[in-house]
Amino acid sequence: MKITEIECLVIDGEYPYVIIETDEGITGIGECFRRSPWVTKSAVDTIFRDAILSVDPSNYEEIWNLLYNIASTCGPYGSLLTAISGIDTAIWDINLKREGVPLHKKLGKKIKNSIPIYASSMKRDMSPEEEADRASFFYEEGFLFYKMHSAYPEEVDSPRDKTLKTVEAIRNKLDNNIEIMVDVNGGYSAKKAIEVGHVLEKFEVFQFEQPVHVTDLEGLKRVTESLSIPIASGECCYTVQDFKNLIEKGKPDILQPDVIKTGGITEFRKIISFLNKKEIMIHNTQPLISTAIHLHFLSINNSIKLPLEYNIEQNSLIDNPITKNSLNIQSGNILVPDDNSFGLDFDISIMKKRAKII
Ligand SMILES: [Mg+2]
Repeated sequence: MKITEIECLVIDGEYPYVIIETDEGITGIGECFRRSPWVTKSAVDTIFRDAILSVDPSNYEEIWNLLYNIASTCGPYGSLLTAISGIDTAIWDINLKREGVPLHKKLGKKIKNSIPIYASSMKRDMSPEEEADRASFFYEEGFLFYKMHSAYPEEVDSPRDKTLKTVEAIRNKLDNNIEIMVDVNGGYSAKKAIEVGHVLEKFEVFQFEQPVHVTDLEGLKRVTESLSIPIASGECCYTVQDFKNLIEKGKPDILQPDVIKTGGITEFRKIISFLNKKEIMIHNTQPLISTAIHLHFLSINNSIKLPLEYNIEQNSLIDNPITKNSLNIQSGNILVPDDNSFGLDFDISIMKKRAKII
């Protein structure tokens, strides 16, 4: 089998997907992380495309190494690796479709039919009371964990920060019935993170995520060692080596890999194996391929107990589907798909119609 065409489509101007055609008529569809979609598209179409035209897609490991090496002259992390995620997941899709098996069967033995998810609220413009109402709504829907994104990463230690007031409002509304997670996306200095963290301890916050800038591993270590609540990090780690560095220098309690940031399944699989016995809470902000792949990985894994992230914001891919089927969410859980490959049936003609160009 040979690859005959590769293209990155930016659906609705926001969501980059990679489509790979083969000479056997099998089409692979892969997903990239959604930030910087046009940088990602440009990387797929102008840096990586020519390197894998005519290549046999069954060699996913060789393809990954080739793309990683090409990216190394101008990266390799960030948007280049998220572009590789789209190519790698499309290549896995081709191989799984050719074999006619679901991903979980290729990874091991499925031992779970459904996976608990947590409600991840991405808004930063709600009042504490509005956020508490939202947490309450999801609690009533069966969610036992709620993550708020707060502080202002673009304005470190911002005086406008409402984090503590929001946590207090959620506790007042729901008492200790729901686990609260606080993600500030690097919005604090280490000093401020420790100050705020001591109050979060009193509110019994389940997890304090990315308290300081992603590059400040020394600061992260100080925060982790100063607080009793678990500190989470890892959504900006792309490879096994990145996680190794994070663990050695930053010492976070919870690690957060994401398949559409780590260059796809090929490296994600190695990361999960490397993180064996560490506490893992998978990072997951897109509702289709990345969610499905994470479900397959979690379904064969007995050691990851923490729920999978699920982005609760409106999304045009859900409101106006590009798939003919959908993932099945039932009171804070998602069923693991059993159909071939990732278990999603994409409508490529709709995807092409909704692909924007600039
Ligand atoms: Mg985060």
